[in-house]
Amino acid sequence: MAKIKTIGILTSGGDAPGMNAAIRAVTRAGISAGFKVNGIYRGYKGLITDEIVEFKTQNVSNIIQQGGTILKTARCKEFQTPEGRQIAYDNMRKHDIDALVVIGGDGSLTGARIFANEFDVPVVGLPGTIDNDLYGTDHTIGYDTALNTIMWCVDRIRDTATSHERLFFIEVMGRNAGFLAINGAIASGAEAAIIPEISTQEDQLAELIQNGFRKSKNSSIVLVAESPITGGAMGLAERVRNEFPQYDVRVTILGHLQRGGSPTAQDRILASRMGAGAIDALIEGQRNVMIGDYDETIIYVPFNKAIHMDKPVDPSLVETLRRLSI
Ligand code: ADP
Repeated sequence: MAKIKTIGILTSGGDAPGMNAAIRAVTRAGISAGFKVNGIYRGYKGLITDEIVEFKTQNVSNIIQQGGTILKTARCKEFQTPEGRQIAYDNMRKHDIDALVVIGGDGSLTGARIFANEFDVPVVGLPGTIDNDLYGTDHTIGYDTALNTIMWCVDRIRDTATSHERLFFIEVMGRNAGFLAINGAIASGAEAAIIPEISTQEDQLAELIQNGFRKSKNSSIVLVAESPITGGAMGLAERVRNEFPQYDVRVTILGHLQRGGSPTAQDRILASRMGAGAIDALIEGQRNVMIGDYDETIIYVPFNKAIHMDKPVDPSLVETLRRLSI
């Protein structure tokens, strides 16, 4: 394999807090290793439209504490076509970029895998998504910050919920994964979480209502994962209004609140370790792997596994929530 001299770094898909810490780590660890580092703006779009700038250490100063991504992010349909990827590859060659580091979720890593195979270029991925839905890593960059934001929001909603004796459905993100909902529920002392991993097996809403919530409670908070499988908070509220009209039900959808904000210490550290890990992977000749953090150890997870294998929610979390909400 030809020696890597220049690497390109981009952020793609949904933004996540900690992406900047990852950009900083990749840039600085890359420069420390003797690589030239190029920042690619707006994800794969910038690779196609040639928005590529050399990054020095000072380009990533003072960003570790910032949410979002200084490289901007985008969703790029053109990259899903062979013609678009050819233009991206030509621009890569034009800037003498030998390898790419892609920070993003499963869509971005899917694009990375296809591109790497098509043009035989080394690509290393970092899991950047609040959803925590990538296999092979205990946590993704941004997940811990989003979880803390959810906890902060639910604490405030609880003040209103208890004052008015209401049933609150609070919808959180997570796409088809229930990590934010289940752990958000445990962290905020909510009564229940309705998550897609369980919805396929039972009617969680009916079970919840039949159990009657705890009689001594004058309000109930239920976290709902946004997935269509759960019906979302709106869908569940509609069902309650029709099937259990004795409950005064309210809905809050946290939405993009969950994506923003300064990353937690945990996310900054994770992003820094993973960013440095991406450079180690390239030095070691790894390609087409996602950097994972498994039991506090940096590991390399083949893209195929990271994207396609299911990452289950630990059933003991569901059980813990049940036990604590009596
Ligand atoms: P995320 O990375 O957060 O999951 P998306 O699913 O929107 O976000 O994917 C981000 C980008 O990755 C897409 O806009 C597209 O440019 C690229 N991408 C996703 N899937 C593919 C694919 N099958 N082939 C090529 N590129 C893809």
